[in-house]
Amino acid sequence: MDFSIPADLVSLRDRTRDFVRNQVIPFENDPRRTAHGPTDDLRRELNALARKAGLLAPQVEERWGGLALSHVGRAVVFEEAGYSMLGPIAMHCAAPDEGNMHLMGIVGTEAQQSRWLSRLASAEIRSCFCMTEPAPGAGSDPGLLQSVAVRDGSDFVINGHKWLITGADGAGMAIIMARTLVDGSDVGATMFMTDLPTPGFEIERLLDSIDSSFCGGHAEVRFRDLRVPESAVLGEVGGGFRYAQVRLVPARLTHCMRWLGAARRAHDIAVDYANRRSAFGSRLIDHQGVGFALADNEIDLHSARLSIWHTAWLLDQGQRGNRESSMAKVLCSEAIYRVVDRSMQAMGGLGLTADTEVSKIFRDVRAFRVYDGPSEVHRWSLARRLGRSH
Ligand SMILES: Cc1cc2nc3c(=O)[nH]c(=O)nc-3n(C[C@H](O)[C@H](O)[C@H](O)COP(=O)(O)OP(=O)(O)OC[C@H]3O[C@@H](n4cnc5c(N)ncnc54)[C@H](O)[C@@H]3O)c2cc1C
Repeated sequence: MDFSIPADLVSLRDRTRDFVRNQVIPFENDPRRTAHGPTDDLRRELNALARKAGLLAPQVEERWGGLALSHVGRAVVFEEAGYSMLGPIAMHCAAPDEGNMHLMGIVGTEAQQSRWLSRLASAEIRSCFCMTEPAPGAGSDPGLLQSVAVRDGSDFVINGHKWLITGADGAGMAIIMARTLVDGSDVGATMFMTDLPTPGFEIERLLDSIDSSFCGGHAEVRFRDLRVPESAVLGEVGGGFRYAQVRLVPARLTHCMRWLGAARRAHDIAVDYANRRSAFGSRLIDHQGVGFALADNEIDLHSARLSIWHTAWLLDQGQRGNRESSMAKVLCSEAIYRVVDRSMQAMGGLGLTADTEVSKIFRDVRAFRVYDGPSEVHRWSLARRLGRSH
């Protein structure tokens, strides 16, 4: 593996770093940052700045206005974007849009891409991905999927109940996963796309979750006779679980990239505090209890970055990287959580207030240990492979 970063990527990284520090961070105290994420008004203002800086949706293909970043390129740029929790929103490389664009770019037809991907890539609209259901439906175990699409002539009619759907409120389109019945036979799970708002797609409530960085928050959604035409099927009927992997393998890695940037920010704030604040006759950084904790942060940040870069490199080589992205997700979500937790501790009471970004980052990274597969589910899946190989 070659760990050197090509000159054009270094320049893009530096431009992203300057953009986030000089143009995005000043918005962090904007009142349009709400408990359910940045408002669309704030998002559009930030998107306009990123567009002007040539940094909007850098991951998408050139024909959609992006820079067609490789996975390694994303690792470098998204970490910089994540240095502010508003950075990925501004640059339109945040979840769930980034994963949805990736999937549509691979699986969508030309007609679907020009109808949805073009508007999504330009940030004219944002999107949501509807998979998880309240118990007893699909969660850690996608096989429990209960939402059902029934073929009706050339349409499908969807009924079901979803929750924790990021960005559903205010989204301009949705990708929906539902079990599919054709002539009474269950043909497996299918992904359907629909414009929003639309009759039959009802937002019942916004959940008051611990995190606050995603536009539109997280919604509970009900499908009541939601009708979609056959042309809105993403990929093949019955291919939904296969496409979910196409989306999830890189999407959980890009989450790691962005949250790595956020953890680095928390660490930098804590290091600065520990250098300025004194207690018991010396600076906090000179107390071993604080200095070692911040040294452990550096070790965690470094190992998280290595696991991301290696997995990104595998994906760039055309390998599936399923197992590696699963390991990177566990490693990063847990290492990043430790980094932000230690940063808070080193800052005493200040770390627990909203006076710095650290407490907000902490709340968001806590959720990352659950979405895109809880740590235990990734461990269980890795352990199952070990069991099979002996
Ligand atoms: C902030 C946030 C945003 C989200 N956004 C979206 C979204 O946009 N779209 C969407 O579809 N979903 C979304 N989700 C849902 C997320 O994907 C699910 O929460 C996750 O898949 C876990 O499912 P569950 O909540 O039903 O947990 P459950 O399936 O009820 O599992 C509960 C716990 O049981 C344990 N567990 C489960 N299986 C095993 C096992 N085999 N071995 C050991 N332990 C196990 C784990 O600790 C797990 O956390 C989001 C969730 C959060 C928190």
